[in-house]
Amino acid sequence: MRATEHNETVTIVGAGLVGSLLAVELARQGYSVEVLERRPDMRREVIDAGRSINLAISTRGLYALRQQGLEEEALRHAIPMRGRMIHPPKGSLVYQPYGKDDSQHINSLSRAWLNKFLMSAAEESGRVRFRYRQRVTHLDAKTGVLTVVDEATGEERREEGRVVFGTDGSGSAVRQALEQVQGFESTQEQLGHGYKELTIPAGPGGAFQMEKHALHIWPRGTYMLIALPNEDGSFTCTLFLPWKGPVSFESLDTPARLEAFFEEQFADAKALIPDLTEAFFARPTGSMVTVKCAPWHAGGKAVVLGDAAHAIVPFFGQGMNCGFEDVTVFNRLLAEHGSWESLFGALEKLRKTNSDAIADMAVENFIEMRDSTGNPRFLLEKAVEKVLLNAFPGTFVSRYSMVSFSRVPYRLAYEVGAIAGGIVSELSEGLTRAEDVDLERAGRLIQERLVPFMKEH
Ligand code: FAD
Repeated sequence: MRATEHNETVTIVGAGLVGSLLAVELARQGYSVEVLERRPDMRREVIDAGRSINLAISTRGLYALRQQGLEEEALRHAIPMRGRMIHPPKGSLVYQPYGKDDSQHINSLSRAWLNKFLMSAAEESGRVRFRYRQRVTHLDAKTGVLTVVDEATGEERREEGRVVFGTDGSGSAVRQALEQVQGFESTQEQLGHGYKELTIPAGPGGAFQMEKHALHIWPRGTYMLIALPNEDGSFTCTLFLPWKGPVSFESLDTPARLEAFFEEQFADAKALIPDLTEAFFARPTGSMVTVKCAPWHAGGKAVVLGDAAHAIVPFFGQGMNCGFEDVTVFNRLLAEHGSWESLFGALEKLRKTNSDAIADMAVENFIEMRDSTGNPRFLLEKAVEKVLLNAFPGTFVSRYSMVSFSRVPYRLAYEVGAIAGGIVSELSEGLTRAEDVDLERAGRLIQERLVPFMKEH
């Protein structure tokens, strides 16, 4: 669709990561854009940027930024993480590379920096107007009329019926309005775990106090701690714990219990978090939810993208990457469709199956990260996987590499990953060292199972 033909202004609800990137793209296509955001402008006021201090951006997210000429600058602020550094309860650290070599890595990036960067890039187009402290409370899905509350004055008003893009996150008001659409269904599954962020400060002279180029994990069965590096030498740690139970946010209710728990389970991290008790009891505990819904749109009046359409748990580091990929696909469809309604329908058709797949993989990865990363059999299988990735480049692929280092649709990555995982498991049977894997048998299994499946798709 050509904006110049329509001279159209559209509304985006939510200036988070996905909404801000979408604004950049719509402006580039010639639309005038008004963005309604309930929070103040984070470039002018210090506010909590939201759901995590830093996040991992990988191939899909970087590709979306590249389409807007924004990748290079983002990478200047990112720290490559080339593998997982596992911290067992006792004994030495174990390092597992993420990819076949160091060129395959994920990147740690500040959420606040990225959000501000995208808002500024959108504004620079001269076509985007951000309006802050504007909370959308209702949308009439038939007319597109929005009810908006100005958080500064408390005044409520109605905004005329433009096309509305709901990028207002997992608790989306726009998604709630889609309930007016016949046949609309949505599910929300809360994870039984919450999360708390803690900080390992930089050492003297801004030095990193642990390996800089790794995502650190302390897997402990039903719970875990992770840490991602920040540009200033610090690490942001995230503790994932059940809400209730013998070891839970509920049970860690006194400084003495918390200290004893960290001393026993995460002694090396504890030594690096000077304000552990203070931060733990002062900072909020976040919740995590998987949201699936359909349809994603009300005719040609409104559509949801990003977490508003498909919130997922953070254990594959793909929520934002998936939301950015929505924008990539949207861009392509914009050139192909003549009406919003057909474009929104096509977007849902292409994206829903894939966002459902990454939602399921993210839940499965939670179990892998907290449980299996500390298990010798898992470590052996990961090492065998790496041998196969190098021995059969382009023919053997793993789920992790397809999700993080390619733009293969998530659904396909899920299915191919299951076949590849089965092959690795079979080949690891009875092995003690990955180097001893039977490459001839591996080649046969890959030819028999993986290659025909890939050809079919
Ligand atoms: P959001 O970032 O939630 O933005 C929504 C915006 O809408 C916000 O600015 C909000 O203020 C605004 N808003 C909400 N309601 C209204 C309203 N009614 N009116 C007006 N404005 C409104 N993803 C990754 O890819 N990699 C990671 O490593 C990663 N780590 C994560 C770690 C944690 C602990 C969590 C919780 C998530 C993580 N994610 C990660 C997921 C990622 O945070 C989300 O997928 C991403 O933020 C989605 O972007 P969004 O713009 O769709 O939604």
